[in-house]
Amino acid sequence: MSLDLVSTLPYDSITSLVRKAAYGLVTTCILGTAVYAGYRVASPEKHLIRRHRHPELNDQIEKVLDSLKISDEQLIHMMHILEEEMNAGLSPATHKKASVKMFPTYVRNIPNGTEVGQVLALDLGGTNFRVLLIDLHGNSKIELTSKIFVIPQSIMIGDGKHLFRHLAECLEEFMEKENILNSGTCYPLGFTFSFPCQQESLASARLTAWTKGFSCSGVVNEDVVKLLQEAINEKGINAKCVSLVNDTVGTLMACAYKDPSTAIGLILGTGTNACYIESLDRVGTWDGDYNEPKQVIINTEWGAFGDNGRLKHLRTKYDEEVDISSINPGKQIFEKMISGMYMGEIVRLIILDLLQHELLFLGHRDTYSDYKAALYNRGGFYTKFVSTVETDEGIKFSNTRRVLEDIGIQNPTYDDCAIVQHICRQVSKRAARLAGAGLAVLINRIGKSNITAGVDGSLYRFHPRFKRNMERCMESLVNKDIKFKLTLSDDGSGKGAAMVACVAERIFEHDKETADYETLTKSLIN
Ligand code: ADP
Ligand code: MG
Repeated sequence: MSLDLVSTLPYDSITSLVRKAAYGLVTTCILGTAVYAGYRVASPEKHLIRRHRHPELNDQIEKVLDSLKISDEQLIHMMHILEEEMNAGLSPATHKKASVKMFPTYVRNIPNGTEVGQVLALDLGGTNFRVLLIDLHGNSKIELTSKIFVIPQSIMIGDGKHLFRHLAECLEEFMEKENILNSGTCYPLGFTFSFPCQQESLASARLTAWTKGFSCSGVVNEDVVKLLQEAINEKGINAKCVSLVNDTVGTLMACAYKDPSTAIGLILGTGTNACYIESLDRVGTWDGDYNEPKQVIINTEWGAFGDNGRLKHLRTKYDEEVDISSINPGKQIFEKMISGMYMGEIVRLIILDLLQHELLFLGHRDTYSDYKAALYNRGGFYTKFVSTVETDEGIKFSNTRRVLEDIGIQNPTYDDCAIVQHICRQVSKRAARLAGAGLAVLINRIGKSNITAGVDGSLYRFHPRFKRNMERCMESLVNKDIKFKLTLSDDGSGKGAAMVACVAERIFEHDKETADYETLTKSLIN
């Protein structure tokens, strides 16, 4: 809404517009009157009045944020494209060139809660590396101890050998603390490795490409289980990696342990990805048997959706900038519009753009010209700030103020806070709607009357309205005859890997020759 337009509107419609947009009743009236009064005065004072306008009434800011808005019609169109891309990934004729790879995981079934055993799991997700010791009690009960370790940036982009050595060192430290190091027992270990892999058997998977900021040398095309086991053996640690799963599969498994209607595993953390249970007759790339159960879990690797340009119409200049300055330009386009690794960065670029166009932090532009300042640096606005800013309800903006002061904006005004919150809401809402539409494609495709999606990842877990925004858009995108549920799967990716490892270990013990994914998955009987 421009200044001129507002001045031609009757008083009532202006205040009601303001009322709609404002956060508290009292302030609404005050603001509404202030805006109206302001617009009627001579132009020299307009600048001052602008400071009291609500962001939604500032058409220049709205124009910027309009580029982030994706209508339901656009989402439905995107769902059709995603479905086509998924089919391309599943067809042997097009798989090689397909962006959405749709890797069959060879996991054919889900656990039934009766699995028992004590197993280790390693969960390498992108930001966090967790080591877990899990006790499956066999009655859907799980006991768990875990520790998070940091993967230093130098290791993320260094020699692959150092990465796996680091993982083994963390494992050793954890086992020592748990008093199970050199205990005489060799512990089965499940490895959650959340990067795209061509799986060859239960305990063998070749990395196809690094994502999420990793680029260790000497790992692409190699068997990551072998690399891990070599590092474990080098240190003489009493653990044997018996299975590798993607984090989406781990999440689906862990959720299914408690809820048998689980058919989807979704990750919304550093990156985004999903897996789901697919009928074998739709998996053209399937090279296993067609015995019961005639289904297999497909790791979609949907983060790469759009890598062939098919999402171009939905991307903004900020998405392009995020992509260009990443270590994998042109790759993981869908992921870069949704996940935690990029969300804060999109917000930072928008804030910076508004600051440079004097639409935000008025009076700060000159003082905030230190190019070392957070806003001028990649990664200077954390995704967790988006959650913090969006937890503010009402007009006090105490969290938002804290965040802004953190990034060097001293004494932000009401408008500064409201605009930053508005930006965060738009960026996270877009992400939630995109992820929700992706999930709707999977749910409609599965087509059962009751479907649960297990979800893991800090973005989903900590963002105050991500789930709500997803559900809201999914209500109109999911077929009306399907009831769906999103369930937070606490530590799901690690727990699920442990479940697979637990069953795998039994099979290894029972028949060392035929211990493969298929044998395993036939044991994971519904
Ligand atoms: P991983 O992806 O390594 O398995 P997580 O699921 O914990 O790990 O996701 C980590 C990512 O989640 C971080 O990179 C960050 O972008 C995002 N994140 C962390 N805390 C929050 C938060 N409070 N709100 C939103 N996103 C967050
Ligand atoms: Mg994870």
